Amino acid sequence: MATRAGLECPVCHEEIGRGEQLEAHLYNDHSKRALAGFVATEAVAMEEDDISE
Ligand SMILES: [Zn+2]
Repeated sequence: MATRAGLECPVCHEEIGRGEQLEAHLYNDHSKRALAGFVATEAVAMEEDDISE
């Protein structure tokens, strides 16, 4: 994974400015429910990856 100047939010793919922290963006711009849904989807996808190979 390449480290770039700008961070991208994994939930909405919005670019997070350098000075802005991803954590603050997640906290302020995404509801708990949206974050839970995202994490759950990722976890399921990873599990499915494990099983398929
Ligand atoms: Zn976001």
